[in-house]
Amino acid sequence: MSGTDTDKLPRLTIVVPCYNEEEVLPETVKRLTAVLDRLIADRLVHGTSVALFVDDGSRDKTWSMIESFHGSNRYVTGLKLARNAGHQRALLAGLMLAKETSDCVISIDADLQDDVDAIREFMQRYHSGYDIVYGVRQSRKTDTFFKRNTAVGFYRLMKAMGVNITYNHADYRLMSRRALEHLEKFKEVNLFLRGLVPMIGFRSTEVYYDRHERFAGESKYPLKKMLGFAFDGITSLSVTPIRLVTAAGFGLFVVSLLAGIYAIVSKLLGNTVSGWASLMVSVWFIGGIQLVALGLIGEYIGKIYKEVKRRPLYLIEKELGRAGGAGGQSPERKDAEGPARVPAG
Ligand code: UDP
Ligand code: MG
Repeated sequence: MSGTDTDKLPRLTIVVPCYNEEEVLPETVKRLTAVLDRLIADRLVHGTSVALFVDDGSRDKTWSMIESFHGSNRYVTGLKLARNAGHQRALLAGLMLAKETSDCVISIDADLQDDVDAIREFMQRYHSGYDIVYGVRQSRKTDTFFKRNTAVGFYRLMKAMGVNITYNHADYRLMSRRALEHLEKFKEVNLFLRGLVPMIGFRSTEVYYDRHERFAGESKYPLKKMLGFAFDGITSLSVTPIRLVTAAGFGLFVVSLLAGIYAIVSKLLGNTVSGWASLMVSVWFIGGIQLVALGLIGEYIGKIYKEVKRRPLYLIEKELGRAGGAGGQSPERKDAEGPARVPAG
């Protein structure tokens, strides 16, 4: 094995967003270490490949655990956000930092629900020339009945609203450096990575794997958050809801026209339509629809407001040194930042 040969191998960074994951972290580190050991031994990735744990403002011992693993495990590096920014933003923070020093980056949740053994196949696809590899869940047997069905509903709804996302793919994917460089150009503050990545293009493929139960700890996505996530995803990527409002308005207009004609015809035939009740019902009905429509349009205006302010997506508190050196790059997107970096220490 000559030195030049090894240098040609891609440097991989596995990005792991963590929010209060102290229970699962030791196991995650253990499994990712084993995966990296094997990938390096099999010459699928460069020896300086690492796992980057992004602490998304956890309140438990997550960060101190990352720091101590960093001390004892050469694969472990860390990034600490100044406060909880949410899964999507924490992930983006990790991706943008990783991009600076890697040829390809894989994102995976900390909870080991996604099969780490699929990483090997991700790398094989990368070697055969793919820029984006989507991890797709083959079965949801281990999810609760409720989670499984809400998730299916989620994908159906997204599709109906014209949002192009891969069915049963969450945020377990590989992206090449150039794909990430393109991702960086998407400047939106309303972040829904799953919807953005397919817009990048390049050669992409899917790898199937079985989804497991959470190894430990509990889901950070209760129903309320999930509904918010779905609604956010749709309104960030599609204007179909506004079109539906327009269509509903048009439909109601036609209905009222027909009602008017009916009233006039009845009057001409001598039996005047009487009825306070029907009048009230229609007034409330129209009023209700109008309020919903206003609320929906308000939602989009709210989104525009957020985009216009261009607040930083995440603030970095600390970065642990990287095995391959060359850390220290500010991962914030150039336009989307204020005084973003809080000096370490
Ligand atoms: N997560 C995060 N910030 C948050 C919420 C979650 O970084 O505000 C991380 C979490 O630690 C996990 C991943 O995002 O690694 C997915 O969260 P979770 O497993 O709770 O979601 P679920 O799989 O239940 O949808
Ligand atoms: Mg999970």
